[in-house]
Amino acid sequence: VIEVLDLHKSFGDLQVLKGVDLSVRRGEVVCVIGPSGSGKSTLLRCVNLLEEPSGGRILVNGTELTDPDCDIDAARTGIGMVFQQFNLFAHLSVLDNLTIAQRKVLRRDKTEAERIARANLDRVGLADKASAMPAQLSGGQQQRAAIARALSMNPDVMLFDEPTSALDPELVGDVLGVMRGLAEEGMTMLVVTHEMQFAREVADTVLFMDGGVVVEQGDPAQVIGAPRETRTQEFLARVL
Ligand code: ATP
Ligand code: MG
Repeated sequence: VIEVLDLHKSFGDLQVLKGVDLSVRRGEVVCVIGPSGSGKSTLLRCVNLLEEPSGGRILVNGTELTDPDCDIDAARTGIGMVFQQFNLFAHLSVLDNLTIAQRKVLRRDKTEAERIARANLDRVGLADKASAMPAQLSGGQQQRAAIARALSMNPDVMLFDEPTSALDPELVGDVLGVMRGLAEEGMTMLVVTHEMQFAREVADTVLFMDGGVVVEQGDPAQVIGAPRETRTQEFLARVL
């Protein structure tokens, strides 16, 4: 579903991504781990062209996003993104947060959009919060609402950038539980995370990034359990 080939990204003189290759197959969960500043968020933001790559190619569902003629807005509707900060619209109810893009981008009518929104709220355990305002929800509930909002667009793939790192520890489990459920349903997911336990149990492939390159990738049991590269070993010794 996602194919990233020799991706480069610089901000001025700062080279952040120095030739990253990545592929995510349908139904696969790929977790990206690595130290702060290694380029994980930049990689994810390049995948849906929130950042413009300096070089390399990105294909999503066979569409080359890096082709100058590509209709980015159309391609992006197939990509769901969940950030560290939940980015819900504060002035809209939870239900309206979930229906607005469905109606404006996918042109669904109100009844249809609300039916889909409610089904996705149910899926993340928030069936009773449709009429709440975001500020009335806990951080974990807001993040689950953000996930439900992304799911309401029927994405082919979901991108997560450290979705639990802004949460109080006791709220992390619910969000990881929702993500685990999605993985079990066969959702294709690319997840930047510091949650090694989650990566170990849920990922099909783990990718360790450092200094703008993929240092090591493979089965989680290998990359997290028995890393080959010194840099991976040093990173894991710090976080585990
Ligand atoms: P963290 O684990 O802290 O989230 P990360 O691996 O996600 O780190 P990135 O956010 O991708 O790292 O940042 C990689 C580098 O790129 C950092 O040195 C950062 O300062 C730089 N960077 C990111 N975005 C920009 C930008 N818009 N302009 C300039 N530099 C940037
Ligand atoms: Mg980041």
